[in-house]
Amino acid sequence: MTQLAIQNTLSSEQENSSFILHFTDLCKLELGEENFNKWISALEIFSQSESEIIFSAPSKFIRDWVIREFVENKILLKLVEKISPRVKKLSVIYLPKAVKEADFIGSNESKVLNLSKHDNVFAFGTELNPRYNFENFVSARYNKLASSMAKIAAGIDKQIDLFDDKIPLFIHGGVGMGKTHLAQAIAWKIKEFDKSKKVVYLSAEKFMQHFVHSLRSNEILNFKEKMRSIDVLIVDDVQFLAGKASTQQEFMNCFNALVEEKKQVVLVCDRSPSNIENIDEKLKSRIAGGMVLNFKNPDYADRLEIITAMAKNYGQEICSQVLSFIAEKVATSVRDLDGALKKLIASQVFEEQKITLESTKILLCDYLQQSNSKAVTIEKIQKITADFYNIRTSDLTSKNRARSIARPRQIAMYLAKNLTRDSLPKIGAAFGGKNHATVIHSVKLITEMMLNDSKLLQEVRALEEKLGR
Ligand code: ADP
Ligand code: MG
Repeated sequence: MTQLAIQNTLSSEQENSSFILHFTDLCKLELGEENFNKWISALEIFSQSESEIIFSAPSKFIRDWVIREFVENKILLKLVEKISPRVKKLSVIYLPKAVKEADFIGSNESKVLNLSKHDNVFAFGTELNPRYNFENFVSARYNKLASSMAKIAAGIDKQIDLFDDKIPLFIHGGVGMGKTHLAQAIAWKIKEFDKSKKVVYLSAEKFMQHFVHSLRSNEILNFKEKMRSIDVLIVDDVQFLAGKASTQQEFMNCFNALVEEKKQVVLVCDRSPSNIENIDEKLKSRIAGGMVLNFKNPDYADRLEIITAMAKNYGQEICSQVLSFIAEKVATSVRDLDGALKKLIASQVFEEQKITLESTKILLCDYLQQSNSKAVTIEKIQKITADFYNIRTSDLTSKNRARSIARPRQIAMYLAKNLTRDSLPKIGAAFGGKNHATVIHSVKLITEMMLNDSKLLQEVRALEEKLGR
C-alpha cells in the first residue's frame, strides 16, 4: 500500500496511515509476504467510508485476480474488519493512473465511485459483479446481434426507434457463454446514465424465493407493488421457473405489467423459449414475443477474436501462436477461454517468463482434456442426427438415396462443416467415402433450403442446440 489516491471520507490523515500500516502488517501475516508483494501491495485505497472500502488496482488483471482470490471469498474483508469492524463492504476497481489523475482526484461525483456505492441494488435485486460491464465484454461475430441489442436496451445506441417501446429481450445460449455478463452490463450502463433508475437484476430462483416469502408473510401486495415500480427488470436463469406454476403466474403478471408500462425487461435463459419444458404456454409465447437473441457457441474465428481481445484487455502480450492454440483447443465456453488465459497470464506474471507454446500445453492440460470430451465431433453429429430422424447411424454413411435418409445425411454434413474444423475430404470420408464436392453440395443445398423451409430451419436449429451450439 504505497499511497492514498483519494480520501474523501476519512476523518484524518493520521487515522488513514495508521489503517494502512495495520492493514499491511495483517496482510503480510495472514496472506504471506509473497501474496502481499505480488497483489495487495499494488492496490491503493480509492475511497473509504465507515462501512465501505474501495481499492483501486493498476491493471484489470490485478483487479480480477484480487477479486477472485481475496474478495469473493471475503478474506480481505475479514482482515479489514479486524481493523475497522464497521466496514461491511469491500470492492476493487481498475483505475489506470492517467484516468485517476485526470478525472477522479477531488471529484466526488466520479462515475466509478457512484456506481460502486452499490445503490444499483433496488429493494431485493442481487448485487452486480463490477467486472460484468460493456467495457470488459468482447463482442465477436457469434454474439454481435445480442450485444448490439443489449447496447440499445442500455441506451448506448439510440438510433433504432423501434426500441422506444422497450421490447423485452430474451437472451439464451449455453453455459459460460457470457449471458449473465451481458445482462449485468445492461444494468451497469443504465445506472451509469441515470442513477435514479430502479434497476433490478435477480435470478429466477431469487424471484421465486421473494415471491414465496411474501406469500407466507402476507406481504404479497407489497411484493407486487415493488415489482411493478421497477424501471428495468433483468431476470437470469429463467429455466428455473420450469414446473413452478404459481411462480410462473406471478412472473407473467409482473412481466406484463412492466411491459405495458414500457419498462425494459431482459430475460436470460440457458435454452430457447420453445425448449423450456413445463412452462405455461401463455408465458412461453409472451416471452417469445420479445426479441429472442441466441448466443450461439463461438466458432474458431470467434474464439480467436475473443481471446485476442481478452489478452489485450488484461494488458498482456501473448504471442499469436499461443492465442491460436488456445482458440483451437479450448472450445467449450468463453468462461473456459477466460480461465485458460488467466492461468497463462498468472504464470507469466509469477514466473516472469514469456509464455511459449510448449509451456502453454503443459499449463493447460486440464482445459484441453475437458475440451476434448465436450467438443463436437463428426461422430457426435451423426449420432444426434440419426437419433433425431429415427434412422440408424449406419444409414448416414450408406449409399441409400431415399429422401428420408439422404436429407438427414446432408444436414449432418452441413453441421459437420459448420461445427467442426474438419476438412471437406475428412467429412466426406466419415460419411461413407463421399468426395469433397458432395460435401460442398450438401452444405450449399441445406443453407439455401433453410432460407425458404422454416420446418427444416427449425430442425437444424434444434440439432445445433442439442450439440450445445
Ligand atoms: P453464462 O451466464 O452464459 O453462463 P457468464 O456471463 O457467467 O456466462 O460468463 C462466464 C465467464 O466468461 C465470465 O467470467 C464472463 O466475464 C466471461 N465472458 C463470457 N463472454 C464474454 C465476452 N464476450 N467477453 C468477455 N468475457 C466474457
Ligand atoms: Mg449465467
